[in-house]
Amino acid sequence: MKALVCQVCGDIIAPLAQPRQPRWCRCQTHAVWWEDPARGDIRLFQQFGPKHESGVPVMPRAFVLGLHNGFLYGGQTTRQLIEEVLADTPDDYVFRQIGHLAAMIRPGSTRDTRWAAELPEIVLDPGRPVPHHGSGPDNQ
Ligand SMILES: [Zn+2]
Repeated sequence: MKALVCQVCGDIIAPLAQPRQPRWCRCQTHAVWWEDPARGDIRLFQQFGPKHESGVPVMPRAFVLGLHNGFLYGGQTTRQLIEEVLADTPDDYVFRQIGHLAAMIRPGSTRDTRWAAELPEIVLDPGRPVPHHGSGPDNQ
């Protein structure tokens, strides 16, 4: 499980189940969405402040919170549970590398987390594109 942690307002926001549907934190500095929910590929967008050409904020103010599924669904947390879950986790997983079931991940530091330069085009109603957040009025 992955979620946005906004370091400005403190919100922890899980992405919506559908791909490419942004969900904003309370202070609206950050949005989060699944690029590909089946692969756990997540995107964060930072609305304010200067950015590099790649879309990476010069001063990132958010993390991806990663929680191991064995932590979420394993029952009450005990040292034994943590050790068993980590022992069953592949070596290339961040949880295995840090020896913990929760991880604060800066977007771009793992293959399936990235900063987005733009918000995705959202389609709420098939065939009727919705303008980007903050753009002009919808003229029908
Ligand atoms: Zn926020």
